[in-house]
Amino acid sequence: MKQLAIHNPATGALIASVPTDNAQTVTAKALAARAAQTNWRLAPLAARKQCIVRFRAAIVDELDHLAAIMTAETGKPIRMSRNELNGLLGRIDFFLDSVERATATETVFDQDGMAEQIEHVPLGLVANISAWNYPWFVGGNVFIPALLAGNAVLYKPSEYATMTGLAIGRLLRGAGVPDQVFNVLVGGGEVGAALIEQRIDGMFFTGSHATGARIAEALGPRLVKLQLELGGKDPTYVCDDADPRLAAESLADGAMYNTGQSCCSVERIYVHEKVHDAFVDAFVETVRGFKVGDPTAEDTYIGAITRAPHLDVLDAQVADAKAKGARLLLGGHRLPGPGNWYAPTVFADVTHEMDLMREDSFGPIIGIQKVRSDDVALQLMNDTRYGLTAGVYTPDEARARALLARVNAGSVYWNCCDRVSPRLPWSGYGDSGIGLTLSTYGIQAFTRPKAWHLRRY
Ligand code: NAD
Repeated sequence: MKQLAIHNPATGALIASVPTDNAQTVTAKALAARAAQTNWRLAPLAARKQCIVRFRAAIVDELDHLAAIMTAETGKPIRMSRNELNGLLGRIDFFLDSVERATATETVFDQDGMAEQIEHVPLGLVANISAWNYPWFVGGNVFIPALLAGNAVLYKPSEYATMTGLAIGRLLRGAGVPDQVFNVLVGGGEVGAALIEQRIDGMFFTGSHATGARIAEALGPRLVKLQLELGGKDPTYVCDDADPRLAAESLADGAMYNTGQSCCSVERIYVHEKVHDAFVDAFVETVRGFKVGDPTAEDTYIGAITRAPHLDVLDAQVADAKAKGARLLLGGHRLPGPGNWYAPTVFADVTHEMDLMREDSFGPIIGIQKVRSDDVALQLMNDTRYGLTAGVYTPDEARARALLARVNAGSVYWNCCDRVSPRLPWSGYGDSGIGLTLSTYGIQAFTRPKAWHLRRY
């Protein structure tokens, strides 16, 4: 059987080798999942909730171990691995508290013997192809509400987060979710492609725009429900009345947290000319203070780059920015191995001619652009094919609201950034994707509304 070699991106060491799925095993798992879904759907919601309650308890019991696995295979600093798992507990609580309300049958009309109801029926067999950067969050946003709503799930973790994916499968099984109802598929793009070939009722994908577009093309003629959570180029504007130091400290964290490998990392910063220089000084000083190194150390802030080939993308964006006249203030180069390392990198005097301000960077690099007015900032913020998140820093709420109302992004932030809440929908404009996860809408996303017309004689 073909094996997937898993390397620690911080050291380059081989840490595991696991057997992969193939076209035959994917088909077998899909058929078994479809067959098992009926009993799962017919089980009382309380029984499905109990499984997720036990899953949550198992995460709490094993939290340090699970964090260590994620850090070993992704290079995520250990403190951030624990933060992700602790954050997931809050998301699970939200889903457990909300699933009844989100999926209860609604009577929308009842008069003179005629009633109308909306029933939220599970989709059936849900396919989930996931990314590696927040494997518990982006996976959990799908498989937890999907399972609660009565679906079977085939979960294809990223090949860069396979051990976490297998741990998720083990804990769900231990919590009472039948093997066939939640099954993990191990492998890379070819296993994802085999999953698309199956008879599925929903495809929920998190990853790059390029892969998402390929999946959309493959599924188009089959009319399968499709959700895509893709990349971003998330802008923030610092207004002339903002405190430059407070904004810089917050945005340095927003740009560099998780080594910049977050879908909602701050990727473009526009600063009003009045506070620009003070902002840049404070920003560079803050980033300089971030400790780079061993992801297992408690005080590490910048870890490894998870995918080695991505170092070339970062190099290319840096070279392009330099060639087009950007001013390099910090970093701008790889760090010595073993493993995949990139120095936190800050550019000023950037323009929209540079890839750094147009293409998903997905690493610890950022461009800061000086602007002379709110209108210019707004025009630049919207000059993108993406639209995941955007933010404004100013003490003036009315000004922030007026600006953010005109920004094309799924989530907008006033005086904060790089934030996701289970209570709010997570979605993007343009090439950032279609559909949504989280919030009660992100539970209903795993159901189809069935219309009941009921005449009583
Ligand atoms: P990727 O597109 O390389 O891979 C994503 C998944 O697709 C993996 O599981 C991979 O094995 C699978 N895949 C690859 N080729 C495939 C194919 N032909 N058919 C089916 N499946 C295939 O992305 P990645 O590197 O894992 O993730 C990084 C990207 O994810 C970034 O662009 C980031 O912005 C985005 N992301 C978005 C969100 C969001 O909520 N919008 C969250 C996290 C990450």
